[in-house]
Amino acid sequence: MPSVMWKELTAEDLRAKAATNAIVVLPIASMEQHGPHLPVGVDTFLCEAVRKGGAELAVKDVPVVVAPTLWCGMAEHHMAFGGTFTFDIPTYRAVLLAFLKSIERHGFRRVFIVNGHGGNIAAMNSFLPDFARETSLTLYATTYFDLSKDDLAQFLDDQQYVQHACEVETSMMMVVAPDTVKHDRLPQAFGMLNGDPRKAYPASRFQSFTNITESGVIGDARRANADKGKKLLAVCAEGLAATLKNREMWA
Ligand SMILES: [Zn+2]
Repeated sequence: MPSVMWKELTAEDLRAKAATNAIVVLPIASMEQHGPHLPVGVDTFLCEAVRKGGAELAVKDVPVVVAPTLWCGMAEHHMAFGGTFTFDIPTYRAVLLAFLKSIERHGFRRVFIVNGHGGNIAAMNSFLPDFARETSLTLYATTYFDLSKDDLAQFLDDQQYVQHACEVETSMMMVVAPDTVKHDRLPQAFGMLNGDPRKAYPASRFQSFTNITESGVIGDARRANADKGKKLLAVCAEGLAATLKNREMWA
């Protein structure tokens, strides 16, 4: 099977993909602290693994190609821990629009932005009206763990959904990049187990992650294992494939 990954194809291959009206999956991730036990590249590793898995499942039924992962996102709330890169809103908007316009100029007409980082969600959704006005693309955006939201809990002991550097992300990293997981730090890899310590006011205020978790983790990575990771990755890839194959959505 020829690769579904943009970076592994030639320009000629990609012109041919555009001619088949392939859906371009554009993964957007982050480079940010993930507790004492995981590398800062977690969201980038997982984003790429899930997109590749999902595209390979879907490509028999629908032409698809996975663009290179944007490894930087909105991560101001993690900066205080170190190891983190962040965009500001105008820069992030400009970079994403430049990517979309590049894709569009090569003749692709359908783009699926698939995010892998909670901090990007608000920005991503707020950009959609501008991107709809400034491109002619059929454009959707989602966050990959939302595609399979109801299917994750069956494999988890403590959590219902993805948190941060948690049971889910740690289990997946044990499969995708096992050598990067510090098993000797797992005993310290938990946080915010008793709910959100922040007071709820009827108004919003920016808060650093340092105000809610000492370890940088939300959830409990002590429950992670590679067997769970394999099942979670499979479910996430299936969720993405199902959305790519949804003809009504992409018509
Ligand atoms: Zn993460």
